[in-house]
Amino acid sequence: MEQTSLIGIEFSVPTSNDTVEQCHLCEFICSTKEHLVFHLVESHPDQCSTEISEEYANLSLKESDQLFIYHLKICSLIMLTLMGLAYIYAFVLAG
Ligand SMILES: [Zn+2]
Repeated sequence: MEQTSLIGIEFSVPTSNDTVEQCHLCEFICSTKEHLVFHLVESHPDQCSTEISEEYANLSLKESDQLFIYHLKICSLIMLTLMGLAYIYAFVLAG
């Protein structure tokens, strides 16, 4: 449910009908099952089952791939910016 604060910032508050995941060990609330898996392994590593650990490994691999793509995009953007600046600098020196 979208609401607006006194200074005009929009925010949403989960309703009781929204599905959330809750940690059975410390009652930590997560919005998705993936976040709960990360929480369980990182906050309660001694009490995790092998099934949760395997799911954590799969999710970590998936997240690592997404992070690699993000880094490629950032490196490309930096290289394009530097090449553009070098081109402009060379153009100014020639003219
Ligand atoms: Zn917990």
